[in-house]
Amino acid sequence: MPTLFTRIINREIPADIVYEDDRVVAFRDINPAAPVHILIVPRTEITGLATLPDEGDHLAILNVAKLLAEREGLVGGYRLVINQGPDGGQSVDHLHAHLLGGRKMKWPPG
Ligand code: 5GP
Repeated sequence: MPTLFTRIINREIPADIVYEDDRVVAFRDINPAAPVHILIVPRTEITGLATLPDEGDHLAILNVAKLLAEREGLVGGYRLVINQGPDGGQSVDHLHAHLLGGRKMKWPPG
């Protein structure tokens, strides 16, 4: 059974896709928590950080985050978040990083 994000990657479910290459796809979060809220998702179905392999598509996430932050004009800064498991607030079991920006972030996160 493909994950929700695989179905988005395969265009079975619509999304505002802002970037893709052979390793990752990025699209805008349906429920944005900031003016810019983009999910960066490896094409490979990795459940989350807890099952991360040593090598793979996910290694592209950081560089794509940097590229998209530049494209989105986040000159004042931004935040990259990966939620892991129930305590981390993960709701979709397909590894993804949240690129958040366009407002001043608070610390500590909730
Ligand atoms: P998590 O809670 O797993 O860290 O993040 C999952 C994110 O996926 C949430 O921020 C949620 O708003 C987003 N999301 C859930 N379903 C969809 C969808 O169908 N389309 C898009 N674009 N985002 C989704």
